Amino acid sequence: MADPLIDPCCKIGGGIDERSLSMRASSVRTLHSSMQHSARTGKKPRNALVALPDEDADVFNIYVQWHYYEKIPCQKSEDENGYPMLGKLYVLGEKVLDKKLQDRVLDAIVATTRRKTENGMRFFPSRQVIKEIYGSTTSNSPARRLMVDLDVVHALAPWVGADETEHHPDFMFDLTKALIVERALTEEAKSAHAELASGIPCSYHQHGKDEVCSAKKL
Ligand SMILES: [Zn+2]
Repeated sequence: MADPLIDPCCKIGGGIDERSLSMRASSVRTLHSSMQHSARTGKKPRNALVALPDEDADVFNIYVQWHYYEKIPCQKSEDENGYPMLGKLYVLGEKVLDKKLQDRVLDAIVATTRRKTENGMRFFPSRQVIKEIYGSTTSNSPARRLMVDLDVVHALAPWVGADETEHHPDFMFDLTKALIVERALTEEAKSAHAELASGIPCSYHQHGKDEVCSAKKL
């Protein structure tokens, strides 16, 4: 016999991606009120299709599994392929105010950064994933802080890329601040900039290398 509490009462995604999802009516009610659809439509979710056209059906499906089993099925990914889904799940957690889910998503992200492939490669969230997280969170978000800290500890120069639009501007701002706060100059870097301490900053002058420098120490 069919469970009388389960109705096909969630319509996720829009256009060709639209799917119906069966959930316990009580769960749908919880989600429904979290997402503040009730207030807008005034409809009760039981026996009514709840339309969530902006949600990604795959992400929402994972969220439903989380809702029932408190497990994130995509958290075992060993390379960067798991990050987009984790990022979207975090953003959904922000919408439905599910802090526990968000904590577990950050755990899964950290676990993925620690895994190594057979070649010793490690993978970190892409600029696109960081952009999505930044686009859906506020300045005090722990996920934002994690994205910055991963770069402070692990980033290589090529991660900056060639196109500034690859980055969320707030991320670059936060990263710059964090790097300045945590910077420790090597002896090599200090000696490379020794002219700043010497008072004759000749490498900034526009005279030729074979011309005599006319600067006087001020
Ligand atoms: Zn000079």
